[in-house]
Amino acid sequence: MTAENADGIIGKVLVAAPIHEKALELLRKNGFEVLYREYPDEDQLVELVRDVDAIIVRSKPKVTRRVIEAAPKLKVIARAGVGLDNVDLKAAEERGIKVVNSPAASSRSVAELVIGLIFSVARKIAFADRKMREGVWAKKQCMGIELEGKTIGIIGFGRIGYQIGKIAKALNMNVLLYDPHPNEERAKEIGGRFASLEDLLKESDVITLHVPLLDSTYHLINEERLKLMKDTAILINASRGPVVDTEALVKALKEGWIAGAGLDVYEEEPLPKDHPLTKLDNVVLTPHIGASTVEAQMRAGVQVAEKIVEILKKG
Ligand code: NAD
Repeated sequence: MTAENADGIIGKVLVAAPIHEKALELLRKNGFEVLYREYPDEDQLVELVRDVDAIIVRSKPKVTRRVIEAAPKLKVIARAGVGLDNVDLKAAEERGIKVVNSPAASSRSVAELVIGLIFSVARKIAFADRKMREGVWAKKQCMGIELEGKTIGIIGFGRIGYQIGKIAKALNMNVLLYDPHPNEERAKEIGGRFASLEDLLKESDVITLHVPLLDSTYHLINEERLKLMKDTAILINASRGPVVDTEALVKALKEGWIAGAGLDVYEEEPLPKDHPLTKLDNVVLTPHIGASTVEAQMRAGVQVAEKIVEILKKG
């Protein structure tokens, strides 16, 4: 148990990125002093961490070896959200500092965005909206498809894939799954069936990607696999940009190998202005907003705050 000072404070947490107020309340309620500085640079961080027990970041700022070495009391580095790319994990491990995150906090939000992208492509909602603003009544160009009875192929049946499966079941869609680590129980729960990647690509009307970015998933969707898909298929990527070969996708969308795509992530972020994708009417683009909901942000903050309290109170 961490010792209490005269004011009843048992430790200090540096919050170096915007975190939901509920998370800050939770820390204070548990006896932690909260020091809030939004996105300090490395030099500022080095000064700020000198007497802190924990630090909370998001995808920024970077917690480098230099920062870690400047923090003799540091016991926890918390990333509110998923990736840990901005934390020097090796330097943390060498010092026995625990690194925690909140990988499940945004799963439902990402899944709901994916469903939104599917509907937007299937019913040409974004396209219709653009035309309306141009004063064009594009009724004839807006013939869509229903989702009920169609097949959705979920590639990567983890936290987000499972949430999509639940919604797809409620929409009366057939669900095909591909994952090297199949969770049969969850598949049964959502009425899904595991298939080979090739069969999933050939049979699905909607294909959605929910794999991590690994060597084995880099350009998982390439020219060859795009050609396996139905020419009526819709591809969604809200995982990581490099999972799809963008050049091949642009070709597929232009030449009608598939019907459309919905993208939240890109090989280059922010997506460069005038990128070929922005010229295509059959693609819906969002700026990596899968986790951008009030609920996901609140959960991300509260979950890491809970982990910090648990670790620091155990001492
Ligand atoms: P998860 O770890 O819960 O699930 C990933 C699944 O992919 C696992 O079941 C794993 O077995 C499977 N997998 C691994 N390699 C595979 C392969 N080659 N083929 C098929 N399946 C494979 O992860 P998650 O929380 O569901 O997140 C999935 C993806 O979503 C990640 O890339 C993550 O970075 C991304 N994500 C995006 C946003 C956003 O804002 N758009 C937000 C959060 C997460």
